[in-house]
Amino acid sequence: MTAVPAAPTHWVVRMNHRNRSVSWLIFVVVLSVHFLEHGYGPWAWGLMVLQFLVYPHAVYLRARHARDPLAAEIQNLLLDNFCFGLWSAALGFPLWICYALVICGCINMTAFRALKGMLQALACAAAGAVLVVAVDGWRFTPDTSLRVSALSILCLSSYLVLFARDAHTRTVALTTTRARLRQSETALQSQLQAVQSLQTQLTEQAHRDPLTGLYNRRYLNTALKRELDDCVGEGATLALLLIDLDLFKQINDRHGHAAGDDVLRQIAVLLLQSMRPSDICCRYGGEEFLLVLPGMGLQTAMDRAQALRQQVAERRWLADGQPIGVTLSVGVACADNAAISPAALIDLADRALYQAKAEGRNRVCVAEAVAAAETAGVKAPALPAS
Ligand code: GH3
Ligand code: MG
Ligand code: MG
Repeated sequence: MTAVPAAPTHWVVRMNHRNRSVSWLIFVVVLSVHFLEHGYGPWAWGLMVLQFLVYPHAVYLRARHARDPLAAEIQNLLLDNFCFGLWSAALGFPLWICYALVICGCINMTAFRALKGMLQALACAAAGAVLVVAVDGWRFTPDTSLRVSALSILCLSSYLVLFARDAHTRTVALTTTRARLRQSETALQSQLQAVQSLQTQLTEQAHRDPLTGLYNRRYLNTALKRELDDCVGEGATLALLLIDLDLFKQINDRHGHAAGDDVLRQIAVLLLQSMRPSDICCRYGGEEFLLVLPGMGLQTAMDRAQALRQQVAERRWLADGQPIGVTLSVGVACADNAAISPAALIDLADRALYQAKAEGRNRVCVAEAVAAAETAGVKAPALPAS
């Protein structure tokens, strides 16, 4: 069985024990000289030894083992003052001796309980004095010899210096603790910032396609709904461009999958360069991209799709270091200010894209045209490739 380590003694209990032991030892010298000068008998000497040499250790042990050491120590201080009252009255109120005893008691209690503490100290001292006067009668011999007065001053001074030194030690300890607390707080703040930025990174990563760096479908699901709601709220339009690279499988087959990846990345860069700040560009599937264009009408969206299609078709793309041609087909859909679900809008764009593929690829097809053609039972017209 491991022994439970004893709890450290409360610093107030330790401090008062040391202060009592040292200053009261000096006080024994004061009283001894006073006793010798006035011929006090063995009873007085015995009580002095008990009070000023034994008592400090007895009350220390009591407070140390108390359930609430601080409360017990405050009681000790009040008891000190009561005893000072007893001694003052029993000795006939010798001025310097009484002053040294009572002022020390008051200072101690004031340090712990402010002015209320000082009043309590005075009350206890008065109670002690009254008790002696009641039992033993009133005696009043305030004079002390120069020697005793000087020793009393010395005793009082040493106590005050000890007290000031303790105050300084506590202030230094408090300053150090505060500095440490500030350091811990700063460290905690920076850790919190690191966690927050990590969280932001994680969220960002969860919304990004690792190959192209574009937003992924998961992000699109929430973003498109949000953008559509905003557009409906503002009475604005929103266009979708669903882009599919033509015959991309052949590029993979001819130049390898890594070359295909290269092309996908280059197309992604082009799409990003063509975007307005409010647009959202995401990789919708393998070689499919979806552009969300808030506030854009059908005609502008069609122009934009045509421009993109043309740019891609005219450019040379590097696949494994070899320049190749790439074309794409685009399905355009536009939500006017009437509410339409994200899925329904994408479906419209998808059908337009399907139409563009069916028409021979490398072209732009519009959802309204698809819908209108289906209603009329005729084939939907596709926008010309050039
Ligand atoms: P279509 O014009 O009808 O769209 O023909 P397609 O070949 O582009 O379409 P299909 O659906 O037959 O093939 C899509 C190809 O895209 C097949 C797949 O290997 C390729 N692909 C999908 N994702 C990736 C990818 O991340 N990297 C590469 N290199 N290829 C991909
Ligand atoms: Mg496809
Ligand atoms: Mg394709």
